[in-house]
Amino acid sequence: MTFTTCPGCGAIAEVVDRFTLPSTAGPVEHIRTHCVHRHWYTTLARQPATDHAD
Ligand SMILES: [Zn+2]
Repeated sequence: MTFTTCPGCGAIAEVVDRFTLPSTAGPVEHIRTHCVHRHWYTTLARQPATDHAD
């Protein structure tokens, strides 16, 4: 499981999906997050998410 911060409220949010969209600058990775307050966001994955195998 990968966690990040909710862009809306700053709470902990789970990364539920991850996908790549084409852009003029090349493929851009996006992530879909779902926070503890039930906010859904699709944002750019600007930096490699902390991806722990455990
Ligand atoms: Zn939120």
